[in-house]
Amino acid sequence: MSGELSAEVSRLRETVAALHAELVRYGLVAWTAGNVSARVPGHDLMVIKPSGVSYDDLRPDNMIVCDLHGAVVEGDLSPSSDTAAHAYVYRAMPEVGGVVHTHSGYATAWAARGESIPCHLTAQADEFGGEIPVGPFALIGGDDIGKGIVATLSGHRSPAVLMRNHGVFTIGRDARAAVKAAVMCEDVARTAHLTRALGTPVPMAAGDIDALFDRYQNVYGQTGSSAR
Ligand SMILES: [Zn+2]
Repeated sequence: MSGELSAEVSRLRETVAALHAELVRYGLVAWTAGNVSARVPGHDLMVIKPSGVSYDDLRPDNMIVCDLHGAVVEGDLSPSSDTAAHAYVYRAMPEVGGVVHTHSGYATAWAARGESIPCHLTAQADEFGGEIPVGPFALIGGDDIGKGIVATLSGHRSPAVLMRNHGVFTIGRDARAAVKAAVMCEDVARTAHLTRALGTPVPMAAGDIDALFDRYQNVYGQTGSSAR
């Protein structure tokens, strides 16, 4: 690796290791389930969690560097068992810089029923621009999960997909954005679950959802910073 690439990979090792702690902090993962990856910008490489390592033991130096077909380029451990899905997304969606996978409880309960989360809240309109869609059932091991993620999210406003009978995959322009989408997906799924349990949600007008999404994506936040 060139010095410049090596410095970028080191930075992403730190970032990806630190973002895994956010999955724990927000209660999105149990035991060793769940994973975060980041694309190495300008290179056909990604940084991803090692397989089967406790969250307490994740550090920058045990993150794994893979190519975009899942082959290990740097690292002593095996990469996450979901590496093929992450790699497929990076190959198919060049605008994606980060991918996250969790089995967070409320969102995965919607995935288990194969039911998309309808948009009845301004916060969901802001983040997801409408419903959070369901993707197909797919077995782990080949490209089927990746294909299902890409087929569902291509051209969709939502950065999150509920893979049927499995769990949540989110994408973002970088790994932090994908983690944020995973946190917000679970938050929205919980509220949608409570709403359904207590009664019938009041519909929102499609035009209002569009206006909220547009404002939040283009106007909200600290202009010119990475605060969002
Ligand atoms: Zn999974």
